[in-house]
Amino acid sequence: MKNSTGNMSELPDISILKCMQCGICSGSCPSGRFMELNIRTLIKKSASGRPVLDEDELWMCTTCYSCQERCPRQIKIVDWLLSVRSKAVHEGNIKPEHKQVIKNLLDTGHAVPINQENIEKRERLGLSSLPSTVVKDDGALKDVKNLLKSCGFDTIINEDQI
Ligand code: SF4
Ligand code: SF4
Repeated sequence: MKNSTGNMSELPDISILKCMQCGICSGSCPSGRFMELNIRTLIKKSASGRPVLDEDELWMCTTCYSCQERCPRQIKIVDWLLSVRSKAVHEGNIKPEHKQVIKNLLDTGHAVPINQENIEKRERLGLSSLPSTVVKDDGALKDVKNLLKSCGFDTIINEDQI
């Protein structure tokens, strides 16, 4: 991943400077119980001006908001994290798996495409083979593609790298 040390976009968000490192966020974090994610130390690192855009931990958060709801300083932790993720993506720090999801969305209008396995599962459950989404409506799919392109979503990935 791109080393973004010293990049101006990594100046800490002022809201996290209120953090008193109490640890309630990381103690509340379900993802932190199973992965390396430590939201408290990530905030500490960013608040002290160190780069975080290439941290794998950024992508381990499920955005469950448990931390944000409990923070005694009312820091909008998840909103901060999402803004950092956005900066990371715009700097090219994006996982291959996420690129694939973006490609799926651009190609099919679905982050998880409807494959044969999913079709068979739907049929076993008594559902129609295909959901009533863009999968069944070429015009709507075209609209979705135009919408994604108009906001530059397609420029996030270089399809040659997938
Ligand atoms: S709960 Fe809030 S104040 Fe406490 S460590 Fe986490 S972000 Fe900082
Ligand atoms: S929103 Fe993310 S960081 Fe916060 S508790 Fe949930 S998984 Fe952990």
